[in-house]
Formats: sequence, structure tokens, C-alpha cells
Amino acid sequence: MSGSSSSNSNSSQRRRSQNTSSSSGPVDECRCGMKLPVLTAWTDQNPGRRFQKCPNYGKPSYCGVFVWLDPDICERGRELLPKMHRTIMRLEDEIYWFKRRENCLKDELIEYQKREKSLESIVIDCKRIENNLRAEIADSQEKRKEFGN
Ligand SMILES: [Zn+2]
Repeated sequence: MSGSSSSNSNSSQRRRSQNTSSSSGPVDECRCGMKLPVLTAWTDQNPGRRFQKCPNYGKPSYCGVFVWLDPDICERGRELLPKMHRTIMRLEDEIYWFKRRENCLKDELIEYQKREKSLESIVIDCKRIENNLRAEIADSQEKRKEFGN
């Protein structure tokens, strides 16, 4: 839980990173001429702390640019932020699975609505048959009356 946040920083890199550390805002590119995205550390030592580093960091061609954009995290922040981050990650994971479940349920609903439509058309057909049969029964009853039973 202590020491450097970087797993692969040797002493020369650490010295150089300290030399280039500042909180004066993002830099556009490193000395290699590479664009530097703003990254966020989630190590125990630097939870949520934004930084920029040369894409060649850890390689022999590393130009030495490593900049923290946020000030050092206080003890309380080191204690709280990793827990909060884990909670947020877990909740985001749950949201992902709930959304997947929602999509499955939406697909099922569409299937049920299709089945409902086809059942409705069967009901309409049955009613038509029922009406025809009633008409035939009424017709045959009329004929019986005509022939005097
Ligand atoms: Zn570089």
C-alpha cells in the first residue's frame, strides 16, 4: 500500500518524472512529438489522480515527460476514493447487466405482441365461423317451420 504508483518505474524515470511533474495544466505533446491523452490513475497511492505520460514510458525511447495534473491525494482520499471507485464500477456493471436484461425483455415483449396479434386474428376467424353456423341454424329452423316440422 505504499511506495511508487508505477509498477515499472526505475530510479532514473522517477527522478525525471519528478523533474517534469507540475500541476500547471495539460500539455499537448511530449518531447517525442506524441499527443498526450489525459489519463487517470487508480492505484492505491494515487486514486483518481489525473496524469499525462509519454507513450514510450517504460521503454528505452521514453523522453521523460510524466506530468501529474492533480495535486497529491491526501490520506483520507487514499482511504475513501478506491472504495468509492469500486462501488461505482460495481454499480456500472449492474447497470450494464440490467440493460442487457431489459433488451431481452423488450425482444420477448415483441414476440408476445406478435403472438397476441395472431391470436386476435384466430378469434376473428372463430367469430366469423360462429356467425355462419348461427345463420345456418336459423336458416334450417326457418325451413323446418316452412315444411311444418
Ligand atoms: Zn515522449
